[in-house]
Amino acid sequence: MNTILPTTIVGSLPKPSWLAEPETIFSPWKLQSDALVEGKQDALRIAVQDQLQRGIEIISDGEQTRQHFVTTFIEHLSGVDFEQRETVRIRNRYDASVPTVVGAVSREKPVFVDDAKFLRQQTDHPIKWALPGPMTMIDTLYDRHYKNREKLAWEFATILNQEARELEAAGIDIIQFDEPAFNVFHDEMKDWGIATLERAAEGLHAETAVHICYGYGIKANNDWKKTLGSEWRQYEDSFPLLQRSTIDIISLECHHSHVPMDLLELIRGKKVMLGAIDVASDTIETPEEVAATLRNALEFVDADKLIPSTNCGMAPMPRSVAREKLSALTAGADIVRVEITAARP
Ligand SMILES: [Zn+2]
Repeated sequence: MNTILPTTIVGSLPKPSWLAEPETIFSPWKLQSDALVEGKQDALRIAVQDQLQRGIEIISDGEQTRQHFVTTFIEHLSGVDFEQRETVRIRNRYDASVPTVVGAVSREKPVFVDDAKFLRQQTDHPIKWALPGPMTMIDTLYDRHYKNREKLAWEFATILNQEARELEAAGIDIIQFDEPAFNVFHDEMKDWGIATLERAAEGLHAETAVHICYGYGIKANNDWKKTLGSEWRQYEDSFPLLQRSTIDIISLECHHSHVPMDLLELIRGKKVMLGAIDVASDTIETPEEVAATLRNALEFVDADKLIPSTNCGMAPMPRSVAREKLSALTAGADIVRVEITAARP
């Protein structure tokens, strides 16, 4: 286990074709009941083995047991009706048919805790688990009950905190909240977004991370990115607030993006999970390309705080491409680690 530049992935890996239709997000399961439970566990085991074999050090479940990073969590809560659907605009970007909040939301039983225990049994490496953030959750629902985005976000923050505490007890070392909505709703982020995120992470002894990105490499996101101009400065609003927050690790998209690297100066002192692998392209990065991105980041991040990572989840990619990208990440980190070690007195 490398103590400097430990590598990790943001979250999802492609699922095996016998478990779900490949190269799509929100793909239906191909198995049912007990066979599905066993199939998900087998897929999780493979995801862990792929990461270990390719040299990844902080291990995730590859999100093999969930259909979608937000919806699967919400499906397990009461107060949300998945039959009553309304069309809403997700992250101001694309329309989707979403479930409706019809009553008080609550978590009657753990959602991912058994899966996390299973992941813990698979490896002695540090393990990381991703949950959706409160603001990203409310953005995928139609709310007929609270009729107030902030109120619903606080409710979800409480529920997320319950789940996070149990994930920690199950042996998770890093709990990550996915908040791509922070790149879109800047005023709400300032008003209550950071506060609800901190509420979700309250009292945890595990390290906490927030992942903020420009989305999966799907068409709606790629089209949106084209409208953002030559410099993506969305992080400029969130980083100063996150720098002062209780969150330990900031996960961001960097490779092939138009994020100016000097924005990292705004989170000086925090650990940085730096996206050095593009998830919107099937072209495999060379080790030297990954190394160049990491070297640029090291101008603004202390070496002992840099965690080389992917830009986002890899669920929609071909499996072989995802595996090769894991190897590229490891090889790039290896190059820079040797340079850092050689430069030390
Ligand atoms: Zn992402």
